[in-house]
Amino acid sequence: MDHKARFAARSLHKHYPEPERLPVDASLVFVRGEGVCVRRGSTPTIYNAQPPDLPECLQKSAQYLGHRGSTPCYAVEVPGDQPLPEGLAYFGVRELAALIPDEELAVAGLAVQIIDYDRNTRFCGRCGTPTKPARIERAKVCPSCHRAIYPRLSPAIIVLVRKNDSILMVRGVRAPPGRYSLVAGFVEPGETIEDAVHREVREETGISIKNLRYLASEPWPFPDSLMLAFVADYESGEVTPDGVEIESAAWFDRDHLPDLPPRLSITRALIDDWAGSVSRGQEP
Ligand SMILES: [Zn+2]
Repeated sequence: MDHKARFAARSLHKHYPEPERLPVDASLVFVRGEGVCVRRGSTPTIYNAQPPDLPECLQKSAQYLGHRGSTPCYAVEVPGDQPLPEGLAYFGVRELAALIPDEELAVAGLAVQIIDYDRNTRFCGRCGTPTKPARIERAKVCPSCHRAIYPRLSPAIIVLVRKNDSILMVRGVRAPPGRYSLVAGFVEPGETIEDAVHREVREETGISIKNLRYLASEPWPFPDSLMLAFVADYESGEVTPDGVEIESAAWFDRDHLPDLPPRLSITRALIDDWAGSVSRGQEP
């Protein structure tokens, strides 16, 4: 499967150690809540400002994202009460997906993710001391107990299960009306990724699967997932939704697919890839 991961921030290259102070030529991405500051217009762009225009307190909290060419890029969290100049607005990352190129989208996603990490790690979880940036890698350190705190990354699996000409789809209890998706869930401690796929399918739908094969991955910054996509074949069992997370589960063929997740997600890419390969008579 040739999947274009839209949140893969490939335009950014990390150069450590990062500077002690915000470089004057840095490019800044502003984040407020879950939103990124954008210059409105017929073709919106992420708003970038330069450090000299920034209050000292915001300069100190800037989070290094990486270099784009020779320009260091940082994310800056802006307080909610800060007035916004004419022509600028905050957009959620999902909204931006339809408005800006993928390269920009990946930077916006990373900026929101790293700001979220910063908010959650300002104090050491073990001793309560304010943390400091590690500078030599993407981490913070506790100056008191020397604990290193890395960004949380939550691996999650998603699987397209095939049976004859159909695929297994599930409807989560919180999904929009009529919307179906693929079996998915987080990997648990003490578990391989493959075991997580078998477990999630069994828990959510009651069936067992075989011929599990890895297809692709995708960073998913909502807030810190890494999606790992698989394909598998039905082995045995009756489809029985768990009734807790999943209210309905069923087999769908290509001509009778339900309402699908938006094209932004790897879920949709898996389904589209399968539907395309079925119509071409190929194995996905
Ligand atoms: Zn500590």
